[in-house]
Amino acid sequence: MTYAEPAATQKTAAALLPRSFAYEAEVLPLAYDGVTLTVGVATENPDLSERIRQQTRKALRTIVLPVRDIRDGLTSLYPPSRTREADSAAAQALDDILASAITTYASDVHIEPTGGGAGRTRLDVDGILQSERILEAGLFERIVALLKVRAEMNAGDSRLPQDGRLNVDFDGRAFDVRASTIPIDGMEKVVLRFLQRFDLVPGLEQLGMATELMARFQRALRRPGSFCVIAGPTGSGKSTTSYAALHAVDLERSNVCSVEEPIECRIPGVAQIAVNERAGVTFPVALRALLRQNPHRLFIGELRDAETVAIALQASLTGIALTTTLHARDALRVASRLAELGASRSTLASSLTASLSQRLLRTLCRHCKQRSALSSHALAVARRYGLTLGTEAFEAQGCEICDDTGFQGRIGAFELLENRPEIAASLERGDPPAVLGKVAFGVGYRPMIVDALRHVGSGLTSESEVLRHRSYDDAE
Ligand SMILES: [Zn+2]
Repeated sequence: MTYAEPAATQKTAAALLPRSFAYEAEVLPLAYDGVTLTVGVATENPDLSERIRQQTRKALRTIVLPVRDIRDGLTSLYPPSRTREADSAAAQALDDILASAITTYASDVHIEPTGGGAGRTRLDVDGILQSERILEAGLFERIVALLKVRAEMNAGDSRLPQDGRLNVDFDGRAFDVRASTIPIDGMEKVVLRFLQRFDLVPGLEQLGMATELMARFQRALRRPGSFCVIAGPTGSGKSTTSYAALHAVDLERSNVCSVEEPIECRIPGVAQIAVNERAGVTFPVALRALLRQNPHRLFIGELRDAETVAIALQASLTGIALTTTLHARDALRVASRLAELGASRSTLASSLTASLSQRLLRTLCRHCKQRSALSSHALAVARRYGLTLGTEAFEAQGCEICDDTGFQGRIGAFELLENRPEIAASLERGDPPAVLGKVAFGVGYRPMIVDALRHVGSGLTSESEVLRHRSYDDAE
């Protein structure tokens, strides 16, 4: 199909639909016969049809066309001279906001009113909000309006909170973005959340795991009916590891389901349910619904209440493979935390396949790191656990490239406790973590500090960065 010469009826149709709306919603006006407007759309979408009717107040007929034909048609239908409308300033500003969010690896963008019709943007980078730019009166409102169109929200309603999604293309990469609005003082605040794309989620081998530990963890994940727990405090990188763990299993040939809060990454082929407490979709409610569909493998975003733990253990006993995260300080404390949440010792002894625990360590900026020496304390700890280290190490310095922080990027330090007969017996007895640790050491478990010191020994991080995590003390 070509649209090189728009027919007269198509030009009339185009006059009914604002250019910005047509482009943002990807609707191609085709004809208007005085009564009915005919448009091309990529897919039949009742909400979109309703928006077009509201916009044009005409009877509507839709024809499904290939997206490429719609875009080509739009380019020839709306002359380029009209691209510089008032909206283009807002579109440009929005592009800039999204680009700066992507290049700074922000997880969220807050676009919020500051009074008098003006607003500002703030980016959430590693959990810290950074002011980004001021949006003058008028521009702020147009950006919010544009976002609502792109996220397929009801553009006419500014009094109710709304949710939507949009795709952002940047530098050849596609980003999945969730948008939500809330009304504030007669204006609206928009929060954009960047979802990770599953094919861009790092694999286990990119997280900093030692080869041998990774092989053991993968074996545990792939065992039929296994129950694997990823433990750590908030911000320890548990969710990235969970998604990486899903990369390690065959998603194609099994029925994989997940319950998450929130969904941070869309996984093709996986039925993902987002917990929504207000709507009554709690972890237990969602889990029960999924279990009726006979899943082979379940990913539960977090175990944090007795009811969820009970359902999860029951599912595990029936042979469903489970991966989940738990707020526990280390691998040795996973069983005792689950026991606090009502799990029986004997069930844990028989079903808990592996407990992985982790921390994120900042990696030294390779442009400015300074040679230093390992402390005798670090060398003694390494020696105690059979880790051979040289005395050379590095410390942070700071330069222009790393914003004077001395660090760039992060890497994981891990520990893995696998279930073996000795471990099962200890869990059955209900041994406290320290006693369990001694038993575990006898069958190959090494505490996280050993893995962290391995990264110090290879110059990736510094000893002081490792010691910053005080929870290591207990593991020694
Ligand atoms: Zn530097």
